[in-house]
Amino acid sequence: MNSRLEIAPLSEWGMFTEPRPCVIAGPCSAESEIQIMETARQLRSFGINVFRAGIWKPRTHPGSFEGVGAKGLKWMQRAKKELGLKISTEVASEKHVFECLKYGVDLVWLGARTTANPFLVQEIADALKDVDIPVLVKNPVNADIDLWIGALERLNAAGIRKLGVIHRGFSTFSKIRYRNDPGWQIAVELRSRYPELPFFCDPSHMAGKREYIQEISQRSLDLGLEGLMVESHCDPTCALSDAAQQLTPDDLKKLLESLTVRENDSEDLSYKENIDQLRSQIDVIDENLLNMLASRMNISRKIGEYKKKNNIAILQTSRWDSILEDMIRKGEGYGLPEKFITTVFNAIHEASVQVQNDILARD
Ligand code: PEP
Ligand code: MN
Repeated sequence: MNSRLEIAPLSEWGMFTEPRPCVIAGPCSAESEIQIMETARQLRSFGINVFRAGIWKPRTHPGSFEGVGAKGLKWMQRAKKELGLKISTEVASEKHVFECLKYGVDLVWLGARTTANPFLVQEIADALKDVDIPVLVKNPVNADIDLWIGALERLNAAGIRKLGVIHRGFSTFSKIRYRNDPGWQIAVELRSRYPELPFFCDPSHMAGKREYIQEISQRSLDLGLEGLMVESHCDPTCALSDAAQQLTPDDLKKLLESLTVRENDSEDLSYKENIDQLRSQIDVIDENLLNMLASRMNISRKIGEYKKKNNIAILQTSRWDSILEDMIRKGEGYGLPEKFITTVFNAIHEASVQVQNDILARD
C-alpha cells in the first residue's frame, strides 16, 4: 500500500515560471564571490530563476575540497539581492538548515548520501518544521526506492508540502558510460506511485561528463519529468569539484534550447481517440500474455510432476542455455533487444523452476 503524501503543486512554489522544464542551475560548489556573481549573472541573462551552489560538500575522500561553508551563503545572498535570483543549496544537518534560513535560502535539497540516512533526514525534517521553503530529495546512492520514499514521508510528516524529488542515478560497481546508473525504472515506479510529486532530474551527477548531459536531459523530458538541476560554472575546467561535468552558462543555454519538451497530455480529440484505441490494443495483448504465461506454467507443473515420478533433477542448464540462445536469435529478427529477451525469459524460467521445486519439496 502506498503511503499518502500531501504535495503542493510546483505552481504554488513561487519560484518556477512556465514553460517547462523548470531549471535549477549553478556551480557544483561555491568557490569565491567572483565565481558566484559571474556565474549567477550569466545564468540570469538567459532567464534562469533558481540558482544552486554547494556550500558544504560531502566528499568521498578527506582532504578534497569540502566547500567554503557559511561564508558562501553571503555570496549567494548577494546574488539573490542584486540579480533577483532564488537561491538553493544542499543541507545535510540541522546546523546547515539554520545557516540557510539565516541567509535567506529559498530552497534546499537533500543529497544522495543524506537521503540514505534516516537519522539525518529526521533531523533535517525537524529543523524545517514550520518553515515554508521547498525541499527536494535526491535519490539515495543505492537503488532503494523505499529509502527514498521514507525520506519523503519524514519531511511530509513535518508539514513540508512543497516537496519534490531529484533523480541523480545510483552508485554502481559495474563499468558503465555514466558516473551513476540511471536506473530509470525506479524513477518511473516512483512517478507512477506519486504522480503529483514534482520530479527533477540531475543529469550532471548522472552523467559525470559534460558530453552526456544533453542525452540524459532529453531522456528525462521524454519521461515527462518537470525539471532539471544542472551544474554550471563560469570556468568549469578550473572548478574545485566536479570539473568534468559542469557546463559554461553559454553551453547550458544552448543545451536548453536543444531540448524538446513533451506534453503530459493533450485535449486534442483525435489524439485522445487514437491513444485510447492503441491503449485498448495493449490491454488485449497484456491479457493474452497473462493467459499464455498461465498456460506455460501449467505445463511446467506437469513436467515437474513427471520429473518427480522419474526421479529426475529439475535444472538442466544446458537445455535452458540453448532455449535462451534461440530466443535471443529469434528476438533479433523482431528487433527485440537481447537484454529485454534475456530479462523476460530468465524471469519466466525462474518462476518455472520455482514451481517445479515446490512440487519436488511437497509430500
Ligand atoms: C551536488 O548536487 O552537488 C551533489 C553532491 O550531488 P549528489 O548528492 O547527487 O551526489
Ligand atoms: Mn557536484
